[in-house]
Amino acid sequence: MSAPDRQLPLLEIIALRKRFGGVHALDGVDLVISKGELCCIIGPNGAGKSTLFQLLSGQLLPTAGRVIFDGQDITRAHPFERARLGIAVKVQSLGIFQDLTVDHNMRIPLMRRVLPQEIPHAIDRLLEQVGLRGLNIAYARSLSHGQKQWLALGMALAMEPKLLLLDEPTAGMSPEETRLTTQIVRTVNAKGTSVIVIEHDMAFVRELQAPVIVLHLGRMFLRGTFREVESNEEVRHLYLGTQRKRLSVDHG
Ligand code: ADP
Ligand code: MG
Repeated sequence: MSAPDRQLPLLEIIALRKRFGGVHALDGVDLVISKGELCCIIGPNGAGKSTLFQLLSGQLLPTAGRVIFDGQDITRAHPFERARLGIAVKVQSLGIFQDLTVDHNMRIPLMRRVLPQEIPHAIDRLLEQVGLRGLNIAYARSLSHGQKQWLALGMALAMEPKLLLLDEPTAGMSPEETRLTTQIVRTVNAKGTSVIVIEHDMAFVRELQAPVIVLHLGRMFLRGTFREVESNEEVRHLYLGTQRKRLSVDHG
């Protein structure tokens, strides 16, 4: 991707609001993500992070505001329509089939997009990318927790998305798995895919070396580098107790 392309907006979130009864889960968020951009969204529990992702994936519809993707208004588009346009989501509740092999799992998203004779090569290329090379015939259920997350990531990448949304991709992972996940995400981004990561693990956020957006009470609280966010006294106050420790650079 050439440098000028990277300046073009891929995703525009305009005055986005979501109310659940009396709860303002999102209270007017404006955000632009450029083509090829990688960013991280953090914020204390209840900040509205998952709600924002669900509004982007189409699982939820907003109370007000707009979402523009690649020049098209997708505010009220169905999830499958958004997937077709190039938005892929990997959530914690995995979309993998435990009783199928790695190969068979990968085949499912590839079948619609790739010629049958090209599928094996596409699978190998994707497995390489997510650190699962050679595990084609392993059953998904036999994989470690981290490997299952990577398989789900591989399936999301099989859609060749323009925008990849990752909700806490390192949840439950060991430090080593977390580190490998950072590498995978950075490689995916280096190949031109825009990535937005919701994350609690500050070791991951720091290693990702990406701009950070802090959500708080449904609003964008701060946008900056990891250093800027990490050293911001107000942000530290948002993360009290254990969450405060998590924001420390000494972690991990
Ligand atoms: P985060 O992912 O940052 O922890 P969420 O987006 O899950 O935050 O939640 C934001 C707020 O919206 C919280 O107060 C939460 O209780 C509320 N909320 C989220 N989903 C629902 C829902 N389906 N029904 C009612 N309230 C919800
Ligand atoms: Mg959440």
